[in-house]
Order: sequence, then structure tokens, then C-alpha cells
Amino acid sequence: MTHPLLDLPPLSAARFAEIERRVAGLLATEQDVVIMQGEALLPLEGCIRGGAGPGSTALNVVTGPYGQTFGGWLRDCGAEVVDLEVSFRSAVTAEQVGRALAEHPEIDFVSLVHAEAATGNTNPVAEIGEVVRDHGALFMLDAVASVGAEPLLPDAWGVDLCVIGAQKAMGGPAGVSAVSVSGRAWERMAANPKAPRRSYLSLLDWKARWIDGGRRALPHAPAQLEMLALEACLERIEATGPDVVMARHASAAAAVRAGAVALGGGLEPYVHDAQNAAPVATTLRVPEGTDATSLVAAALAADPGLPLIAGGGALAKEMIRVNHYGPDATPGAVRASLDALGAALAGTGRTVDPDAARHAVADTWPGH
Ligand SMILES: *Cc1c(COP(=O)(O)O)cnc(C)c1O
Repeated sequence: MTHPLLDLPPLSAARFAEIERRVAGLLATEQDVVIMQGEALLPLEGCIRGGAGPGSTALNVVTGPYGQTFGGWLRDCGAEVVDLEVSFRSAVTAEQVGRALAEHPEIDFVSLVHAEAATGNTNPVAEIGEVVRDHGALFMLDAVASVGAEPLLPDAWGVDLCVIGAQKAMGGPAGVSAVSVSGRAWERMAANPKAPRRSYLSLLDWKARWIDGGRRALPHAPAQLEMLALEACLERIEATGPDVVMARHASAAAAVRAGAVALGGGLEPYVHDAQNAAPVATTLRVPEGTDATSLVAAALAADPGLPLIAGGGALAKEMIRVNHYGPDATPGAVRASLDALGAALAGTGRTVDPDAARHAVADTWPGH
């Protein structure tokens, strides 16, 4: 008997190219799109090692833990790094980026995370892109947590390297990712003697062996199951409508935010200003004297399927993340998450109002 996951015909080059075309459609980009055969950290590292190197100066905007990771790669590949660190509870502004560029005219590479699922904030990329374009630096964007959750227009915003993964708001697989590469970015990498070549990290290899050959022969066996899952998730987004998918994430974020405030018990939105809160996931700060990890454990003990997780690293005590993305961008998941957090808080002796939370969700999410 054939097995649906195992006994598959090979994935053809034509089908691979077609999936890339659909990703380009989702991003409304005319640039080359390369689907990378690994989780999104693969193209992110490939972009940094290809676009920066000895002799370059990078502005690394840090609005959460991924920006910290990029700073490490940038230093490791020999670039001078200017870190622009902003409170994880807010967003960076175009003015701040403009000031950093004016103070360091030598900056030729800018790395920015669009939305940070780990801290729940999102940055105004359109405005920042204008400033970066005026300066002339190459602009890399980590859009893993924004794609599918909020508008993402790399070409209109002047993004040279836009990295996405399917595992968040796209509701897809984690094991493949994609990057759109501008002509400027290709030129920069080609001129960088330290850019990865003959390497799994190499975007230039994909250009030489795949794109320049007319996308007729794949350089190696593709991650077939992940490619098929990516194709299925693109089909689902196209059928639902990207606007509908994004609206669902925006509503989930607004409902969790309003619901948490109405719930009370000392829970508060971690990102101060709603306009800086990411549609992909909502972070909450737990009241003094409680522990986020224990509250999440109590909530998950009651319902293991809830999209709840405590903050990573130093944030594990104070932050709860509600990962209302992909299949969890629903009123049901939001209501159940708030109910369970309310019960967990009540278990520590706090006074909560679950009915008020439910009403706040209903008021925030039209039709629910
Ligand atoms: C989720 C995410 C990634 C992918 O990283 P994982 O650790 O595999 O989840 C990259 N960048 C951002 C901003 C993300 O939110």
C-alpha cells in the first residue's frame, strides 16, 4: 500500500519554480525569490554573511531577541556593527534610524526585524525603508513573524532582502523559508569575497545554479514534504484571501489585548502602545509576585492545546505570549486562552473577571 507521506513522485523543478512564483505573488515582489531548504534562520544567516563582511558597517536594529542574534552574526563575519537598541515594549521609529544613519554615514547595511513574535512588537517598515533608501544602505528585513499577519510590501518599502518563514501566520511548515533578493543585493553579494559560496548558506549558489540557468534543474534534492506543505499553505491563503487572513490576526491581537485588560488580576499588555503591538502574537506582563512560567503551566495543565508560552530567557518570569497565529487566529483560541489565564491567576488568589474578558473579546472582534 502506498503511504501518503512516503511514496511520493519526485518534486519537479517546474513545480519548485511554481511555488517560488506563488511566494513572489504573496509578497507582491518583482525581485528574485529563492526558497531555502531549511528553517528561516538559514536565509537570515545567509543574507547577513552575503550582504555584510569586513569593510562594511551595519546598523543592527534590536527590538527583540532576533536582532540580538543578527548582531552576533554581523560581528562574526567581520562587519563593524552599530546596534540601535530599543525597548522590547515599544518599536523603533524612522527618526531613530535616521539619526543613527546620520551619525554613522559609513553604514552600508541595515538589519531590521519587522514583527517580533518573541516580544510582541512590530516596527514601521514603510517609513524606515524610506530613510534607509535615502541613505543608500542595503536593507534586510526579517519578516518571518509579519508575513500573513500584517501588510508586507518589500518592493514598495525598498527592502533588498526580505526573509519569510511559513510557520507563523501563514500556518505552514517550519522547515522551508524564502527570501526575495533585489538586484542591488545580488551585486553586493557578488562583490563580497567573504559571501558564502559552495555552501549551504549561499544565496549566490542558488543564483548561479538555479536562477541563472532558468530554474530548470534543482541543485540538490528538495525538502519535498516541506515544499508540498508550503504549496498547500499558499493555496489556502490564496483561497481564503490574504486580507482575510491578516484581518483575523489583527482581530485576534486586538481581542487578546482588550480581553487581558478586562480580565484584570494585574495582567497588562507588555507592549505599551497598541499601535506597536504585532498582529501575530500578543505578549502580556504578569503582576508582581506571580511567575509567568507557572501561570502558563497551570493554564496548559487545564488545556494543553492552548497557544500559550512563557517568554524566553530573561523574560520567562514576567512575560506570557499568546501565539494566536495560523490555526490559532480564532475567537475560540483567544477566548479559551483568556479563560485559562484567568483561572490560573485566580489560583494565585488574584481577583479576575472572566465575563468582562469575554465581553471585551466580543466587542473587539466583530461578529463574535
Ligand atoms: C519565529 C521567528 C523566526 C524563526 O525562528 P524560530 O526560532 O525557528 O521560531 C525568525 N524571526 C522572527 C522575527 C520570528 O518571529
